[in-house]
Amino acid sequence: MADLVAEVVPAEEIQARVAELGRAITEDYQGRSPILVGVLTGSLWFLADLVRRIDLEVEVDFLLLNRFGEGGRIRIATDTATPLVGRDVILVEDIVDTGLTLTVLRRLLEEREPASLAAVALLDKTSRRLVDVPLEYRGFEVGDEFLVGYGLDFAGRYRNLPSLWVVLDLPAFTEDPLRLARLVHRVG
Ligand code: 5GP
Repeated sequence: MADLVAEVVPAEEIQARVAELGRAITEDYQGRSPILVGVLTGSLWFLADLVRRIDLEVEVDFLLLNRFGEGGRIRIATDTATPLVGRDVILVEDIVDTGLTLTVLRRLLEEREPASLAAVALLDKTSRRLVDVPLEYRGFEVGDEFLVGYGLDFAGRYRNLPSLWVVLDLPAFTEDPLRLARLVHRVG
């Protein structure tokens, strides 16, 4: 019987792609000191690896979003500590799905009048896009499947897994969310 979960991108493959993204950013931002702004919490792991692959003088900051209301309205719950005016800002996201989050974020950050604004996401679910939003750098294009690991969670779990996993049967996984923990950590 097929399992509820399967590893889709091994850790080594993620790291190799992150290194390529780091090289591309290093080339594109020669002579500049960009600030990487991570969208908490999912981007933390990607950002930590990416920033160590960028051979430039960079800064790092974070913001935390709050989603509320029926339409999933988005606002900034915790803002960056660093002023972004006049800076070369690189937004760091774990995954772009419908594109709504990135669209709102880009609009909010453009209002701060940065010198430039770009976005990097490890994963891009292009087939699910509802709004066309620029994404200057992306790691992998993925299908319409629910992923966990490397920053992506399922009800708070599995962010710490070094590889990416697909949940093949979401209703069954919801019933038994520790299934993957038993597989990878040999618990329970
Ligand atoms: P968007 O506004 O682009 O639809 O939403 C992006 C957000 O949806 C991501 O930051 C992430 O929190 C969540 N998301 C989208 N797809 C997945 C997925 O496959 N797995 C997990 N864990 N979160 C996802």
